[in-house]
Amino acid sequence: MDPYRLPVHVVPSRYDLRLEPDLLARTFSGQGTVTLTVKEPTQDIVLNAAELDITSAKIREGKDGFLEGTAATDEALERCRLTFPKLLNPGTWLLDLTFQGALNDKLRGFYRSTYIDENGSTRFIAATQFEATDARRAFPCWDEPALKAVFSTTLVIPPELTAVSNTAVKAQRLEGGKKVLEFADTIRMSTYLVAFVVGDLQASEPAHVGRTAVRIWAVPGKQPLTQFGREIAAFSLGFFEEYYGQPYPGDKLDLLAIPDFASGAMENLGAITFRETALLVDQRGAAQAELERVADVVAHENAHMWFGDLVTMSWWNGLWLNEAFATFMEMLAVEAWKPEWDRWTTFGVSRAAALSVDGLHSTRPIEFQVRAPKDAEAMFDVLTYEKGASVLRMLEQYLGPHIFREGVRDYLRTHAYGNADTGDLWAAIGRAAGQPVPALLDRWIFGEGYPLITVKLVNGALTLRQQRFTYLPSPTSPADAQKSIWQVPLLVRLIARGQGESCRLLLTTQDATVPIPDGFQCSLVNEGGHGFYRVHYAPELLQKLLALLPDGLTPIERFNLVNDAWATTIAGLMPLSDYLDLTAQFQRERDKNVWAILIDSFHFLNRIVAPSERPGLEALVRDRIRPLVESLGWIAQPNEGDLARQLRGDLLRALGTIGNDPEVQAEAMAMYEAHARDPLAVDPNVLPALVAILARTGDAARYEEFVTRYRSARTPQEERRYLYALALFQQRELLDQTLARTINGEIRTQDAPFVVGAVLMSVYGRELAWNFVKANWDTMDRQFPKQGLRRMCGGIIGLATPEWEQGVREFFDSRKIDLGGRTLAQYLEQLHIAVSLREREGAELRGYLSRLSPNRGSVTPAPRANV
Ligand SMILES: [Zn+2]
Repeated sequence: MDPYRLPVHVVPSRYDLRLEPDLLARTFSGQGTVTLTVKEPTQDIVLNAAELDITSAKIREGKDGFLEGTAATDEALERCRLTFPKLLNPGTWLLDLTFQGALNDKLRGFYRSTYIDENGSTRFIAATQFEATDARRAFPCWDEPALKAVFSTTLVIPPELTAVSNTAVKAQRLEGGKKVLEFADTIRMSTYLVAFVVGDLQASEPAHVGRTAVRIWAVPGKQPLTQFGREIAAFSLGFFEEYYGQPYPGDKLDLLAIPDFASGAMENLGAITFRETALLVDQRGAAQAELERVADVVAHENAHMWFGDLVTMSWWNGLWLNEAFATFMEMLAVEAWKPEWDRWTTFGVSRAAALSVDGLHSTRPIEFQVRAPKDAEAMFDVLTYEKGASVLRMLEQYLGPHIFREGVRDYLRTHAYGNADTGDLWAAIGRAAGQPVPALLDRWIFGEGYPLITVKLVNGALTLRQQRFTYLPSPTSPADAQKSIWQVPLLVRLIARGQGESCRLLLTTQDATVPIPDGFQCSLVNEGGHGFYRVHYAPELLQKLLALLPDGLTPIERFNLVNDAWATTIAGLMPLSDYLDLTAQFQRERDKNVWAILIDSFHFLNRIVAPSERPGLEALVRDRIRPLVESLGWIAQPNEGDLARQLRGDLLRALGTIGNDPEVQAEAMAMYEAHARDPLAVDPNVLPALVAILARTGDAARYEEFVTRYRSARTPQEERRYLYALALFQQRELLDQTLARTINGEIRTQDAPFVVGAVLMSVYGRELAWNFVKANWDTMDRQFPKQGLRRMCGGIIGLATPEWEQGVREFFDSRKIDLGGRTLAQYLEQLHIAVSLREREGAELRGYLSRLSPNRGSVTPAPRANV
């Protein structure tokens, strides 16, 4: 028997819950009546419970009688077995439970969040976070997504506070000096979607979408930050009702900002919870990236109200269905809301992150077997969200958006209020498309990795070959090669006599040939950029494509060109000097995403160069970025779009930090002072760059100033900006202070592991941070939310020398640390890739950088290697 799955001879259909939290004493007491269906005669009922004290369990019998059960809990399996004195026959039974628990500080289950109010007093909120398997920490339950039930919740709270749950308040009364709130019945849904929040929270005015009232909740004083979130919440709700062809399944929609929150947000039906940075924002004072984050997360959670909440995966291996879809739908909604943000091009950055992890031998399939809860937690990663969404986008573009949407509607109609699997979705989309979808998609969903398409000109024809892309070589047998065949929807642009012609084909074999037209110049594979694969061009074809820059290719096509070139360089398929030459061809590039990938590659190199070589790399960065900065200037222009403003900020930041440009640093200081006198003097997109540059060059006085700014921030974004700046200083003693603050209670545990991760990725702080992690591992393991700790460990990829790498492996081995799923193996492989690049290309890089003049940042082209 699977120790992680409940027996199903007894299943619930309804929970009537009454919970009474004591925010000061950090406890709660609860009662529940569960309506059960007994399917086979039994004396035993097995359900989930963790860190709960079940004080009474009774089955009602006859008019006034009951059978008292004995409860035996197994904390390791998070289960409770209730044994009754006689057999319960098949039929419907009512189970009354009384229980108690602690409001924990782990940001899971039923937990306590803390904040300082406007008078400087400490205040508390009781909130819940149940996904994946923590509802069992708030009430005894059948805590599996397929065991859906109706929930009727009553909360008993201090009269001065308020409470929010999944549904509208049905009745409210005072009882023994307490406020009693009864909430309406929910739809039939999974336990992980139940939510209750208790505190001194205030709601915005509602926006009405059809019959649904949409409100944003925050702690007092933050109401001015709710407007933007409410706008995208209302827009996306309407958008999804139209797209899905079904009304919103709840009776109201509340979005709540919780001061302590482990993940970004949680799609509890009708009561979505967020960390503050993902919901509250000052629309006029925020940078583009900060606004986009709020829009994305709000749209994502709303998309879940149908995809995830109304129709739910049967088990956690199907988590990707929820998350990939919500990520895909979030893009569609934000694209429709703000077309000028060009969201699908910016999605290239997310797709690139997925391609990066999925190019590891230690990757996993999108849909992956999940048994233990810790493995379910490890599924919340870039493969589930970003690879999943990328593959869905590829499918949507291949079948056509209309057909795809029809399939999604069919799927939601067919499985509403129930559960479904990947096969059900493929069946529905296949019905709409009139073609079998599994043949096309199974390799992408149930297999690891993705193809590299190698493009060559052979005997007057274009040849395309697919093979699995990995950064590190692997011995391949013919059988492996066969396993590495994907059905790849290819869109190829053939460019002849200055004209492009699109050619669509489904690559189902390892090799294919495309005839070329007269006057052929070159070809672009992955036209439109929606494919989840990489392209490697023969050098002469690449050179011809580069000649089309910038306007002969669309932004996403240019993005993919750089991204694939960089990945194939790391994999040893392209010489590093060729890649560095390629980066010189983007001086007229105005797309922020293309620049994001270029800058990211400079950061990678910065982590592998020796300190003595760093000035050379800084000169290279200045050479590549400065011309564009000079033409953009520091001041936002009235006619500029949001993305151009964001690009300016990104470039200035790179130039002043990794480019170590003294002129930019001096100007940043002057502008920051101007901002201190008049906050409107600096564009909100430039301000984060100034803060980063000043941290990079700052002293102890600046550090103290930023600590004060962090503590007194007016918005969540400002708080976050100054907090992360504390990881960017160069001096050891300042970084020591930053690290100490992550475990002494000064930095919230929702943020602390990310700050440690940022210091690990800093070339000035990594050694310090690593020693700190080793020395304080047990404290961190105890204090930090599990997913935060897991993300923090991602920072080890910054430790890119052979000696550090060995130390990292020894530490994780000797401590027997398991981060769930394949997470740790992926970090270790990424670290090894960086170390390997350093070993293989170190001399080449040194030579290339030494040919640059460190002062002017001008570059003498290297003699071209003939390949
Ligand atoms: Zn989600």
